[in-house]
Amino acid sequence: MWKGFLAGLVVANGFEWFAHKYVLHGVHRPGQSRYSPVPESMRSHWEHHRVVRKTEFSDFGYVEGLDNWRTRNEIASLAVVATVFGLSFYPFSKGMSLAALYGAGNYYYLHRRAHLEPEWAKKKLPWHYDHHMNSNQDANWCVTKPWFDYLLGTRVISSADLQEQNPLGLSLPAPISKKLNRWAEQYFPVKSADASSKMTKNTAKNTVMKQLNTQVME
Ligand SMILES: [Zn+2]
Ligand SMILES: [Zn+2]
Ligand SMILES: [Zn+2]
Repeated sequence: MWKGFLAGLVVANGFEWFAHKYVLHGVHRPGQSRYSPVPESMRSHWEHHRVVRKTEFSDFGYVEGLDNWRTRNEIASLAVVATVFGLSFYPFSKGMSLAALYGAGNYYYLHRRAHLEPEWAKKKLPWHYDHHMNSNQDANWCVTKPWFDYLLGTRVISSADLQEQNPLGLSLPAPISKKLNRWAEQYFPVKSADASSKMTKNTAKNTVMKQLNTQVME
């Protein structure tokens, strides 16, 4: 049961990463709007991003609760995900099935609380604070725990005070956190927002140089 539950938590975290990136943010298409398999959820989510950046991380949608279409959209989407995964895991692992339900509930609880209490979010979910407030909002995809952002190299940290205690995002004794951090530095290093914006600048410069070169050659 508990092994299944733990495995389910990892799957749920991976799903958070993929769904947030490909469904809620959508895939960039040159010359067209972003593509998402669920356009209504993408529209709701980008509206969430606009609100959050205007109001220093709070979202009145959670104050309005079910009166707000975006809150209804999030709850309905999570209910669908919890039902589909909960039912499909059930025949082979009750633990995983339970983790799917827990994951969806926990996601809503943490995401809602984060945008009702920004100071709490800075301490407890700094990765989600970075997700909204960094200049590049296409990073830091995990909401409840930053696991898959570490695994896939998409944890982009803006400042030292927004770095979590350790890559598991759990409060652990200092020596264990230290070990985990050293291990992560070696195998799953985070990026810093500064370095990545510099990188984009350099890439832009290179593109311009390449274009100039081709023009010269023509
Ligand atoms: Zn987002
Ligand atoms: Zn483009
Ligand atoms: Zn958010």
